[in-house]
Amino acid sequence: MTWTRVTLEKRIELAPGLARFRLSGHKPEFKPGQFVQLALDIDGERVGRPYSLCSAPGEDLETLIVRVDGGALTPALFALPQGAPLWVHTAASGNFTLDRVRDAPSLWLISTGTGIAPYMSMIRQDALQRFGQVVFVHGVRLAAHLSYKREIEERGFVHLPVVSRERSAGALHGRIPEHIDSGDLERRAGVKLDESAQVLLCGNPAMITQVYGQLIDRGLTKNRPRKPGNITFEAYW
Ligand SMILES: Cc1cc2nc3c(=O)[nH]c(=O)nc-3n(C[C@H](O)[C@H](O)[C@H](O)COP(=O)(O)OP(=O)(O)OC[C@H]3O[C@@H](n4cnc5c(N)ncnc54)[C@H](O)[C@@H]3O)c2cc1C
Repeated sequence: MTWTRVTLEKRIELAPGLARFRLSGHKPEFKPGQFVQLALDIDGERVGRPYSLCSAPGEDLETLIVRVDGGALTPALFALPQGAPLWVHTAASGNFTLDRVRDAPSLWLISTGTGIAPYMSMIRQDALQRFGQVVFVHGVRLAAHLSYKREIEERGFVHLPVVSRERSAGALHGRIPEHIDSGDLERRAGVKLDESAQVLLCGNPAMITQVYGQLIDRGLTKNRPRKPGNITFEAYW
């Protein structure tokens, strides 16, 4: 894989340690849901990590990144001044796209933290029209981390925030799995989470493992290349 230079056009801070990064200078072809590797040269070594794209294909690249304290790359990314150069892989990668997701009366887009990024690319490309009802479930620690809430609602989708570390008006309190168990999410959405649905899961691996188990118990199955099912996921670590 080859690296090419891009420029940090703008970093938009949404909350301390959470920002949208807009990059100019290279626009790889990609499908919504895919990621690029971003890298910096740190102490003589190129340190690269994968980041999902939230921009639509053809636009300047945008990613949503959270700073991991003590991490090898993210503290350096958050210290970059506007206009700084960084590296990006020339080609995007990943299978977390809608290509293998069958049409369905409902699509549940479930994420934690920055795991909402790939779904933004999907809605910005208008790729969700073939699904009857689309429900976003976004689990975050603090309400200030509910990135893109307004944009999702303005586009007419149901957005169900779940906030774990504080109480916030309009949001469920706690974690996503408990609100699946209790039926709260289905009640709020007015949509059943059953075998008729397609479900995408992205972000924290613990959330994915837990929700995956809950969905299997409800009769949903993993979406495999040769055996289509309902559940498609991407863990961030
Ligand atoms: C396919 C894919 C797409 C990804 N897309 C994004 C994205 O769009 N935005 C984004 O912020 N991250 C994303 N990540 C995570 C990202 O690649 C890095 O792992 C993360 O930025 C930490 O890098 P670091 O070098 O600072 O930390 P490292 O030194 O690599 O430390 C990694 C450790 O940090 C923890 N960690 C990693 N990511 C997170 C996180 N988001 N929240 C809390 N703890 C974490 C884990 O314990 C992990 O073992 C993605 C990962 C994958 C595999």
